[in-house]
Amino acid sequence: MTRLSGITPSGHIHLGNHLGAIRRWAAESEPDDLYFVSDLHAMTLPYRPERLRALTRENLAVLLAAGIDPGSVFVQSDLVGELGALNWVLECTCGYGEAARMIQFKEKAAEQDSARLGLLTYPVLMAADILLQGASEIPVGNDQNQHVELARTLARRFNASYGEVFTVPAAAVPRAAAGVRDLADPGRKMAKSAQQQNGVVFVLDEPDVAQRKINRAKTDDLRDVRYEPEQRPGLANLIEILAVCTGVSPYAAARTATTYAQLKDAVAEAVLEELRPVRERARELLDDPGELERVREKGARQAAERASSRLGAALRVAGLR
Ligand code: ADP
Repeated sequence: MTRLSGITPSGHIHLGNHLGAIRRWAAESEPDDLYFVSDLHAMTLPYRPERLRALTRENLAVLLAAGIDPGSVFVQSDLVGELGALNWVLECTCGYGEAARMIQFKEKAAEQDSARLGLLTYPVLMAADILLQGASEIPVGNDQNQHVELARTLARRFNASYGEVFTVPAAAVPRAAAGVRDLADPGRKMAKSAQQQNGVVFVLDEPDVAQRKINRAKTDDLRDVRYEPEQRPGLANLIEILAVCTGVSPYAAARTATTYAQLKDAVAEAVLEELRPVRERARELLDDPGELERVREKGARQAAERASSRLGAALRVAGLR
């Protein structure tokens, strides 16, 4: 079984990515699992090339620093040739209506003056990511379920139309993950794309910066520390972060503080302790471009090897060779 997960370098990796995904990837990954930095996906919205290049390196460094096996990691665009080829084959396997029906496309397109065609077709590229690596399980949240469903449909249709080439992937529901909210605006989840970054703790934030963001986290006027996610989302978010970092239940975490100041101090201490080794190791890697480049090239080679026979077979049965 191969599980495939990606992270889009549309911004710096934050505490939500770390606690909700990356930390777990590092702890639970099996030798066949794959993790990739999906820089091609970041091009579906306006972006700056220099920043994308830097964020791709940075995201890769953070994945490695968090303890993910270097042999399991690659950068998506290092397979741009293979992916471009399979993407075209799959676009010609996908109906226009099927792509246009994707809820995420409709939502994101509505926020743009002029949505890119890539925003419409990116679920097909995601299918190519999955099928090219022969991944069998894709752990995704609700917002990506429809895309995995499309990948399943395209794999089945291609296999039935031209020949059995692809493993049909399945969406896997990740074990209930920490959903970290924005510290300044607990109504929103913490996200790389947040306009205001004072509520987003980045993994590479210097400790004083992270501490300040936590100290200024939005709570409420009630003063007593109690875990009530519905009524007091800002406070509950802090309690949950403390709970995940210290490995206790939110109720137990809430009992460790009596004032908001105490709670915030405890959260800051736990978060800084959690992120410190990752930040330090990532900085080391970023300061040693040779080492990061070597890992990247090796990941690219292995990913290309996994892709090559499958791509060859797909092109052959599709009538191209
Ligand atoms: P973002 O929304 O910050 O751009 P991605 O879509 O790249 O993040 O997601 C990468 C991984 O991080 C996914 O597995 C996703 O479920 C997880 N993740 C993203 N934001 C959060 C959050 N606020 N809390 C918990 N997990 C998160």
